[in-house]
Amino acid sequence: MDYPEPFQLKVDPRHGRLLGSPSNYQKKLSDLAGIYRDSAAFDALAQTDGDRVVYAVQDYRPAFGDNELIFGTTWMAPGRVGDEFFMTRGHIHARADRPEIYHGQSGHGLMLMESPEGDTRTVEIWADVVCYVPPFWIHRSVNLGDQPLVMAFTYPVDAGQDYDVIARSNGMRSLIVDDGQGGWVERANPDWRPRTTNQIETIHATAHATVGA
Ligand code: ZN
Repeated sequence: MDYPEPFQLKVDPRHGRLLGSPSNYQKKLSDLAGIYRDSAAFDALAQTDGDRVVYAVQDYRPAFGDNELIFGTTWMAPGRVGDEFFMTRGHIHARADRPEIYHGQSGHGLMLMESPEGDTRTVEIWADVVCYVPPFWIHRSVNLGDQPLVMAFTYPVDAGQDYDVIARSNGMRSLIVDDGQGGWVERANPDWRPRTTNQIETIHATAHATVGA
């Protein structure tokens, strides 16, 4: 049997680089149109900063089999759109029962999580904090600080991502906004639309999908 070779990659905790990583993708501010509630504030910022890179991912994806782990680093710029902090588009795993680990490297942020039924949780993240995203939770990273937020992550190679799950409900149930006193507060999103029983069952059913289906 040919076994995969062990190896090492080095995390740069300040700049979020995964040294030796073969893959790198970036998102510009203009790529995130539609995720912030204050669309006027977004459009104004996009006019001047639309081409600015606000989010970068470097990862390593083993190709040996379905039981492996993808790991990598994310770098998120600090900033706000209106009173909402910069955040990622967010997703649920296409196989929703696959979990994920995030490991803070530098900066200050949080993981906003939402169950299919609409329960929400927040986990604050600093350097050296590990956040466990259990199976079935929609998750989005938020940068709460004035410095870049860098995290390392690991998830099963067959997890996949469903990025539309949040758009289908008009956003996540909670907004993470500036409290005006240097901190943050979780506020209800008045546009949020609960998932139907059918939508929830569809998410649960992904856990039993066969490989490649
Ligand atoms: Zn994920």
